[in-house]
Amino acid sequence: MVSESLVDVAVVSHWIDGAERPSTSGRTAPVYNPATGAVQAEVALADQAEIDEAIASAERGFREWSQYSIAKRQSVLFAFRELLNARKPELARLITSEHGKVVSDAMGEILRGQEVVELATGFPHLIKGAFSENASTGVDVYSLKQPLGVVGVISPFNFPVMVPLWFVPIALAAGNAVVLKPSEKDPSAALWMAKLWKEAGLPDGAFTVLQGDKLAVDGLLTSPVVQSISFVGSTPIAQYIYETASKHGKRVQALGGAKNHMLVLPDADLDLVADSAVNAGYGAAGERCMAISVVLAVEPVADDLIAKISDRIAKLRIGNGAGTDGVEPDMGPLITEVHRDKVSSYVDIAEADGAKIVVDGRGFTVDGHEDGFFFGPTLIDDVPTTSRAYTEEIFGPVLSVVRVSSYEQGLDLINSGEFGNGTAIFTNDGGAARRFQNEVEVGMIGINVPIPVPVAYHSFGGWKKSLFGDAKAYGVHGFDFFTREKAVTSRWLDPATHGGINLGFPQN
Ligand code: NAD
Repeated sequence: MVSESLVDVAVVSHWIDGAERPSTSGRTAPVYNPATGAVQAEVALADQAEIDEAIASAERGFREWSQYSIAKRQSVLFAFRELLNARKPELARLITSEHGKVVSDAMGEILRGQEVVELATGFPHLIKGAFSENASTGVDVYSLKQPLGVVGVISPFNFPVMVPLWFVPIALAAGNAVVLKPSEKDPSAALWMAKLWKEAGLPDGAFTVLQGDKLAVDGLLTSPVVQSISFVGSTPIAQYIYETASKHGKRVQALGGAKNHMLVLPDADLDLVADSAVNAGYGAAGERCMAISVVLAVEPVADDLIAKISDRIAKLRIGNGAGTDGVEPDMGPLITEVHRDKVSSYVDIAEADGAKIVVDGRGFTVDGHEDGFFFGPTLIDDVPTTSRAYTEEIFGPVLSVVRVSSYEQGLDLINSGEFGNGTAIFTNDGGAARRFQNEVEVGMIGINVPIPVPVAYHSFGGWKKSLFGDAKAYGVHGFDFFTREKAVTSRWLDPATHGGINLGFPQN
């Protein structure tokens, strides 16, 4: 939704040239507090002049920042890490106010982002090239890893801090300048981080925040100055980003949506499974790309498991993620009313397709927060695998149970889906777990771990329609993505050994 009026609410705007840059585009979108349903701010939506200004500033920032010595770049990263670590409670509250997730969960996302900052502080080891002395007689060959230039990062609403931090510290460590286009639904955390980068000593222009919608995204995708795009969001947009940015000659990593299954074998500890399914299904109200949305129960465990999950759901506290009277709930609201209604429509679809709604979160309200975008935890049994409620990503607190008769039937269902982001197996049989990690066509696997988000020194990314491009986020993939290599073959001529005229192809 684009609003016409800027009256009486703060406008969250861009960060260009090391300072807040009020927008003059005349276009804004509302930013809600999802717990109350109130519009708490407007976010600026960049026009072409602002996009051009942001990119031009980043180009200048790159020229300066890329010439900083490794030691100086490292000191900025260390300073950013210290500032983030000291001030993260403030950032967590900011995330909650625009996203809705509970504050402790917002803190968790910051910590996972901070992990990547910490990895990036050790960047000299990861971007140093290689040297081969005397590759041929008197000839040395070595490689240099250089930054790309201005790089674009486009992030989703569900992790307004962690996802930008998957890319930004590594891109900066490698000497690039970054233009971040955050989600217009929770745009303030990006500005908060921009101020922190400045305080940490990053030169103006090396980190830019461009607020906006499709126009800003397209401006980055088509600009000849922008060298690469790192995108995280839904699959249709990820595919569009991949195709458009590639067509414009850019390096692209575009991470898309998910439909993550948890395969439960009959020998698993069902209490552990029930705890894990509830945590991974309803945490952050299911608005996580690594959330579990389908439990594949290998019979005869489904009835017991559904009873255990239902018992746990009954005890969940749903409310304002900021907490009321000092008490934090387990789960907050969804991001917008439109999204809440979409989640609700999937429960309608499941019901119409013959599924059994065991716990129904439709129409859920929180006392004192009647206008908030709440949706109750929902459990659905016997979802037909032909139903759109099974095949499509719901991105809400909706857990579906599908009963299967064997490991093989469960594996086939996982492998026949269009997504391949995350999955988990719960079992006490090491052989079955080993077979699963080999046979499943998914990028990130948990063995008795429900949300297997890899640590910073491994890389994050799915398979199939969960990742377009061949570079995952962070880890070694991240450093490879944000650098390009030069190979230098060098000979310092010694008149005694130089070989004279030889038109043949160089040999060793
Ligand atoms: P989204 O695709 O709607 O938006 C992501 C970004 O793209 C935002 O910055 C948005 O402004 C921009 N955008 C939206 N529509 C666009 C268009 N038509 N053209 C150009 N740009 C556009 O995603 P979202 O709703 O913000 O986030 C939720 C989605 O992200 C879910 O599908 C979730 O699975 C996915 N996600 C994936 C991962 C992963 O690592 N694979 C991580 C987090 C979220």
